Amino acid sequence: MSKINVIGAGLAGVEAAFFLANKGHEVHLFEKRPHKMTPAHQSGLFGELVCSNSLKSNRLDNACGLLKEEMRAMQSLTMEAASFSSVPSGNALSVDREQFAKLITEKIRQNANIFVHSEDVKRLPDELTVLATGPLTSDELVDDISNIIGVKALSFYDASAPIISKDSINQNIAYYKSRYEQGDDSYINCPFSRDEYYHFVDELQKAETVKLRDFESQYFEGCLPIEVLAKRGVDTLRYGPLKPKGLALDRSRPPYAVVQLRQDNLIATLYNIVGFQTNLTYREQERVFRLIPGLESAEFERFGLMHRNTYINSPLALNDNLAIKNKDNIIVAGQLSGVEGYVESAATGIIAGIIAHHIAIGKEAPIPPSSTMIGSLIRYITKANPHGFSPMNANFGILANADKRHRQKDAEKALAAIKEYWTSANE
Ligand SMILES: Cc1cc2nc3c(=O)[nH]c(=O)nc-3n(C[C@H](O)[C@H](O)[C@H](O)COP(=O)(O)OP(=O)(O)OC[C@H]3O[C@@H](n4cnc5c(N)ncnc54)[C@H](O)[C@@H]3O)c2cc1C
Repeated sequence: MSKINVIGAGLAGVEAAFFLANKGHEVHLFEKRPHKMTPAHQSGLFGELVCSNSLKSNRLDNACGLLKEEMRAMQSLTMEAASFSSVPSGNALSVDREQFAKLITEKIRQNANIFVHSEDVKRLPDELTVLATGPLTSDELVDDISNIIGVKALSFYDASAPIISKDSINQNIAYYKSRYEQGDDSYINCPFSRDEYYHFVDELQKAETVKLRDFESQYFEGCLPIEVLAKRGVDTLRYGPLKPKGLALDRSRPPYAVVQLRQDNLIATLYNIVGFQTNLTYREQERVFRLIPGLESAEFERFGLMHRNTYINSPLALNDNLAIKNKDNIIVAGQLSGVEGYVESAATGIIAGIIAHHIAIGKEAPIPPSSTMIGSLIRYITKANPHGFSPMNANFGILANADKRHRQKDAEKALAAIKEYWTSANE
């Protein structure tokens, strides 16, 4: 069997290392902590959760719940650790973070095929490697990655606006139109009356935000959170991202302000709210953004967020099998590959392991089908529009041929497909 490197013992790296070791490969796992810490991690443990202790919903009709079940079908190390360290949290799967990371660390350290190196890797190796250094990848390695893929293919800050499912937008209020009749009417517009606008701004100014750490609170002037803009003055938004000019449907009754939503995926099931990068808590995003006319029943497929986040513009820089286009011995996994979230990162780690294994044995690497949540995520990050690409989490909007009214059925189909995939991946 082959010698394969894994860089980063976070959620994605441990999954890849575990899969490869169980396939009999000699795995060299490089982790810089605790010798050199990141600004968010607190320990030297592998698989550390840097913020919340929640791995989100456990329900099968929830996209992240389905993703976790797919991971269980693929004998995921993080799902096993989560089942032994879970704490009560209703329908969600939440864990005792220390116990969770300790269990993962033990499993990795006890595995005779895994050789752990306490090292801050500064250059991409020339041997087969899974790169899973996460959103806080160290600076020298970032420089090396950007030399290879090009500076434009790397982002350092994630300022994403919420993504809404198109089905949940009230089309009796919202309408299609591009500003000044340009383009192809590809925006959905939500018009405000005067009273609605000032009520919205008032609630936005008062809304609760996430507490940021020092390294996260430096905003770029060109990319301010919507609530920060709102606090600069009650009319700032309607002269900025909510400018109504050129968007009236009926010129005799122009709207006072307009929120625009832009198509976010090829199959046009998802729309992002233009200019709405935000630090509001998820609960507040639901409450306040549902005050936008037409979004009163909006379903949030991904919430907006802002944090330091190094990630690759994968549609530009990666092949369909997650290998870097101009250095295809490097398979990218985790948050660095353009997914968002603990579970999503860990899930791509399993697939990166499967891909690396197949490359090592000289076979074509199988990618999970797009009827599965993990297959859809991988397709999204490798095939999305590279312009304005930002990380994606699991959601039913990206699942091929999903029937939103029958999520349980979609989930059952996905689980059957992932089991078949897992069998073929292990042949
Ligand atoms: C501040 C912050 C808060 C977040 N909060 C949440 C949240 O609440 N919920 C959620 O679902 N997601 C959250 N995320 C997003 C994401 O899910 C996590 O960052 C997740 O840990 C990503 O997994 P990963 O395996 O890609 O990276 P990580 O888990 O960060 O693992 C990467 C590992 O690589 C190591 N490393 C980095 N560079 C090198 C190098 N050069 N050489 C050797 N080792 C290296 C790091 O020390 C780390 O152990 C957050 C992200 C950030 C930055």
